[in-house]
Amino acid sequence: MAVGPADVDKHIGSIAAEKNMSSSPEVVAHATPIFKKNVLADDVYEHFKSLIMDHSLEPETSLKIDVLARELGVSPTPVREALLRLETDSLVTKRGNRYFTNPVINRAEFEDLWEFRLCLEPWAAALAARRATNADLERLRTEVEHPAGMGKEMDFSKYRAMQEHDQRFHDLIFQIARNESAHDAFTRAHVHLRTFRILYASQLGLAGLHEHAAVAEAIATGDPQVSHAAMTEHLERSLERLRPFVQG
Ligand SMILES: [Zn+2]
Repeated sequence: MAVGPADVDKHIGSIAAEKNMSSSPEVVAHATPIFKKNVLADDVYEHFKSLIMDHSLEPETSLKIDVLARELGVSPTPVREALLRLETDSLVTKRGNRYFTNPVINRAEFEDLWEFRLCLEPWAAALAARRATNADLERLRTEVEHPAGMGKEMDFSKYRAMQEHDQRFHDLIFQIARNESAHDAFTRAHVHLRTFRILYASQLGLAGLHEHAAVAEAIATGDPQVSHAAMTEHLERSLERLRPFVQG
C-alpha cells in the first residue's frame, strides 16, 4: 500500500506546515488544539518527530516556541523540552530564538554513515558472538521473532514499528558486545533517525527482517567470523536497497 500525505494526516493530528516559496516557512495549525493542557513533553516530542520524519515539516521550517505552544494549546515548557530533544537527535538546529528543521541527509553524508556502520557493526557482532549470555541470546531471538506491531501492509504506524524494531535490533547487538565506547559512538551517529527520514514511503519496510534473523543465528553459534560476515551482508544489502532513495 502506498503511503501518502493523507495517510500521515490520519496519524499526526491537525497541525500542518505552510508550504510557500519562503526559505523559512512558518508552522501554522488548525483551530482545534490537539493536546490537553497537562500534556507530557513526550507527546509533544513524538508529535514533532513524526512531522519531521514523514516530511510534513520540510527542511528549514522555522519553529518558534511561543507560536507552536499557542497553536498546540499547551504551555511553552513542553515545546521547549521537545525541541531540545529534537536538537539532540540532530533533527533541528537553534538559530537565534528559533529552531529550524535540519536538511535531510545527502548522498555524501549517507555514504559516510554507511562506511561508519560497516566498520563498527560487523566488529560489534563479532564481539557479541564472543560475549553473549543465554539471556542475551533470548532477547535477540525475541526481537527477531516478534518485531512488535509489524505486518504485511506498510502504513505509517507499521513503518514506524519497523524503524523501532531495526533500531532496537542494532542497538541490542552493541549492548551484547559490551563495549561502551562503540555503543556510545553508534548512538551519537543517529543512524536510524537520519536514515529513516530519507526513506519514508519508500516501502522497503520489511526487507531486512530475514537478514536480522541470520545475524541473530550467527551470534548464537558463538562464531565471531560468521557473525561478522552476517552483519556485513545485512549492511551491504541494506545499502543497496536504500541508495536509490538518497537525494543530492
Ligand atoms: Zn537492520
